[in-house]
Amino acid sequence: MARLLQIVQLGHPVLRKRASAVEDVRGGATQSLIDDMLATMEDASGVGIAAPQVYESVRIMIVSSYPSIRYPHAPRMAPIPIVNPEIVWASEEVEKGWEGCLSIPGIRGLVPRNKRIKVKFVTREGKVGEREFADFVARVFQHEIDHLNGIVFTDRLETPLDMITEKEYMKIVS
Ligand code: ZN
Repeated sequence: MARLLQIVQLGHPVLRKRASAVEDVRGGATQSLIDDMLATMEDASGVGIAAPQVYESVRIMIVSSYPSIRYPHAPRMAPIPIVNPEIVWASEEVEKGWEGCLSIPGIRGLVPRNKRIKVKFVTREGKVGEREFADFVARVFQHEIDHLNGIVFTDRLETPLDMITEKEYMKIVS
């Protein structure tokens, strides 16, 4: 049974470390970590989560998307567990969009991201997956892969003026 894990908050050093590659993708430890991350993300109403956010410095992340009060225009996509991801191509076109983070509660930022990306990763079944993502899902992917490299979204703001509170953000989207 999946367990709900504690979510690391900004300031803990594990969020600033480069996570290591997973070797035994089909092993029990990796499989239960993925199950626990899925449950934890869902419980926290997140659209993505990376293993360092649950104190595990390994290259595993979940990317999902669904429309919500925070992201009314997000498409619906079932959560995808992603191991050892790589961005193999990124569009030159960059777009600024709002992001938040389960590890940085109460804060929203307008973050520039590549609009389209092609990615390669290992699935939880141990197969090589190749996908192309655009817009919101590409944004979530880039946010999560940053976590595996010790980067958080506030590092990517063009100016501190692009950072606002959740309360003010809700006025913008509602
Ligand atoms: Zn995050």
